[in-house]
Amino acid sequence: MSLINKLEDEIKGIWTIDTHEHIYPFNTIIKKNPTIFEILEGSYVSWIVPMPKKGDYEELSRRLKRVRGSAFLKSCIKAIHDIYGVDIRDLSPYSLMLASKKINEAYKNKEWQREVLRRARIKKCILDPYWNIWIEKYDKELFVLALRINMFLFGYNTEARDHNGNSPYDLAKKLGYAINNFDDYLDFIDKVFQRAKERGFVCLKSALAYDRALYFEEVSEEEARRIFGKSENELSQKEKMKFGDFIMHYILSKAEEYSFPIQIHTGLAIIEGSNPMNLVNLFRKYPDVKFILFHGGYPWTSEIAALLLSFPNVYADLCWLPIISPTVASRLLRELIEITGGSRIMWGGDCWVVEGAYGALLTMKQILIKVLAEYIEERFLTLSDVISIAESILRLNAEELFNLKY
Ligand SMILES: [Zn+2]
Repeated sequence: MSLINKLEDEIKGIWTIDTHEHIYPFNTIIKKNPTIFEILEGSYVSWIVPMPKKGDYEELSRRLKRVRGSAFLKSCIKAIHDIYGVDIRDLSPYSLMLASKKINEAYKNKEWQREVLRRARIKKCILDPYWNIWIEKYDKELFVLALRINMFLFGYNTEARDHNGNSPYDLAKKLGYAINNFDDYLDFIDKVFQRAKERGFVCLKSALAYDRALYFEEVSEEEARRIFGKSENELSQKEKMKFGDFIMHYILSKAEEYSFPIQIHTGLAIIEGSNPMNLVNLFRKYPDVKFILFHGGYPWTSEIAALLLSFPNVYADLCWLPIISPTVASRLLRELIEITGGSRIMWGGDCWVVEGAYGALLTMKQILIKVLAEYIEERFLTLSDVISIAESILRLNAEELFNLKY
């Protein structure tokens, strides 16, 4: 067996901690009557090509053929082939329809999501259920929870909502807290964190890059207190931002108190404000908080690598990046390995369907194999070195950081 085959074999066999998913609960996906259309939608293909009406395979085929080079689509094609044994590489109406038939049949099995993740060798996923941040019914064998924090920055009044339509006042009602003033509001956030810790949430998650720019300035408590409770037409955009800035700092002080690492979406989203360099004041001010920067900060990937060198409390999560661009992911992976030695790097799928997660992991493993094989050829590392590094990136780093116990 050649060295490369051996490496391939080893990496394929590694069990993974998938640090970031939005996978729909089984009942939700079932209600959608899943076909190839839902799989493509749940793994970002619909972000680069609008989906035609469900069931129109002729039109779907035509549209997919226009984007056949897309890494999102490639990842999906590989997953469909592996999981359902259907080769849709020709993107013909017939093969797409055949895939739909197989997908629909498979979901008659209530254990299907578990089965697919098991075949992918995904041991556990961290779930970010932004549609119901306090979710109580989920598959506890597959998932542990991240607590979405976006809504808390929008608590200056009861009308405001984050980009997912969430308000902290709805959560307060659900959990039985009355908020009558600013102190109640801060206390409410504290109580939510305390209860989240008790319920076993493993980290916080910010998707604020979809709401606003990622620079959070220091705002005094008096100023935040003055803004609190004003109605929409009494508030300027600047005041709303300032309130959010204050709350973000408050959240980080609580993250420190409750030992919650925080996952942060960086790059893309509202792209003019999503550069991870915007967060530097936070890394410096909260050295005991562990900041996990998502998506390679794309397009600011070298910035991510440099931030890991500058701050020991900063981590890189490559989630989403391998299926955005394998080329970029390979390049960043090399920089990160050389800078951290293989520590403080992890991976997540970031999809809504298990087929998406399966394909994303397959893509990540192919990238790992390519990059690590190069290191062996260059005599930079040995086979046993690179196998340890792959295990760290796919599982051990996340297990340690999130303190996962089974
Ligand atoms: Zn995500």
